[in-house]
Amino acid sequence: MAQSSVDGELIGIDIPPHTCPVCKRVNDAVTCPTDSTARPSTGDISICFTCGSISVFEADFTLRSLKDFELEEEYDVAQRLELAQLQQRIRELHPLDRN
Ligand SMILES: [Zn+2]
Repeated sequence: MAQSSVDGELIGIDIPPHTCPVCKRVNDAVTCPTDSTARPSTGDISICFTCGSISVFEADFTLRSLKDFELEEEYDVAQRLELAQLQQRIRELHPLDRN
């Protein structure tokens, strides 16, 4: 089932369940901020809606953590700032025990 947005409205498209490599939450839906009908492809990044970590989709919809050097190689400063702001917003919405 698609995930719920903050206001409870259903968003996203269903995909095979995939586990966040950081918080271990199993997610079964994704939402592309620029194309609501897009499905992830190998190499696309994902920001976990629970913990805000950035991961990369593998071919079988598993996720691996994105390495810092990959982020710097693939995204310019403005894009990295936008990603960091999105992570911060998610982490404000979903505070976790980050000890
Ligand atoms: Zn997570």
